[in-house]
Amino acid sequence: MSIASMKKVVKRYGDFTALDHLDMEINEGEIFGLLGPNGAGKSTSIRSLCGLIGIDSGEITVFGQRQDVNNVKIRQKMGIVTQEITVFSDLSAEANLRYFGSLYGLRGRELNENVARVLKFIGLTEHKNKRPGKFSGGMQRRLNIGCALVHRPKLLIMDEPTVGIDPQSRNHILESVKQIAAEGTTVIYTTHYMEEVQAICNRISIMDTGRVIADGTIDELVGRISHEDTIRLTAAMPSDALTEDIKAISGIKNVAVSGNEYTITSGADSGNLNRIMEIAMRHGGVSNIHSDKPNLEDVFLTLTGKKLRDEE
Ligand code: ADP
Repeated sequence: MSIASMKKVVKRYGDFTALDHLDMEINEGEIFGLLGPNGAGKSTSIRSLCGLIGIDSGEITVFGQRQDVNNVKIRQKMGIVTQEITVFSDLSAEANLRYFGSLYGLRGRELNENVARVLKFIGLTEHKNKRPGKFSGGMQRRLNIGCALVHRPKLLIMDEPTVGIDPQSRNHILESVKQIAAEGTTVIYTTHYMEEVQAICNRISIMDTGRVIADGTIDELVGRISHEDTIRLTAAMPSDALTEDIKAISGIKNVAVSGNEYTITSGADSGNLNRIMEIAMRHGGVSNIHSDKPNLEDVFLTLTGKKLRDEE
């Protein structure tokens, strides 16, 4: 069942079109990934979905209601985690959580219980009286996420929550997201890291220049381009005879040779890796062979001609 949708959403900043007839549908219970390079329009999509900014045309529906910048009722059932740390550095971890809980209307015992639950979940119970100024970057991030969880939102939106943090904290956050979803919260997760969506997301939309250029499960997206496998072979004794014998295998589409390196394009899942291996063994042996399966990076490259992210 749909929990949020964007239909033909257009958002302009002056002459610049940041969202260009964007369509997106998020189903209840899933971890939905929004993947795209910097500047694709991920934050703009998320901000309009949350009602933080208005749109020029199109329609946004959340929890079955039309979203707009004045719809406080929708916002109360959402949790929003932005890239920036939005906790108060002069309040303790616990006081921060209490503040955000009370903003969402929690009082008394309900507030106490939820603050204790979240402190445990983010692993900060022992540090609850400390101020975030004394925390590591990863701990600050966890508190930032905790503040969006105190009121048990039905929909949690996370905008690139792992940018600029160490791998251990990143893994902790990814594991937390899976747990939050397992406990019944729908999650929208934006990132420009393909590995993250591959690790946690059920379904994704890939965005570029304000549009969704492809959506589906990871298998569906990769399946769209995986008509071919690339097999890389380093021959011990390269020869024309070896090249001709490989070319003669059924399903082989191309063989490019450079020195002793053979780059072979074969129909996907044809079982040709073994056949190539047998032939190469007969022609003097193999010092290396492997087969590359496409991933989301290849999907993006195929659809846009660009790399998903700049070298960092
Ligand atoms: P992403 O989150 O994918 O990195 P953004 O949604 O932040 O992308 O930005 C999409 C595009 O819109 C970018 O080209 C950005 O420069 C532009 N943009 C974002 N916010 C504003 C703004 N307030 N005014 C003008 N341009 C903006």
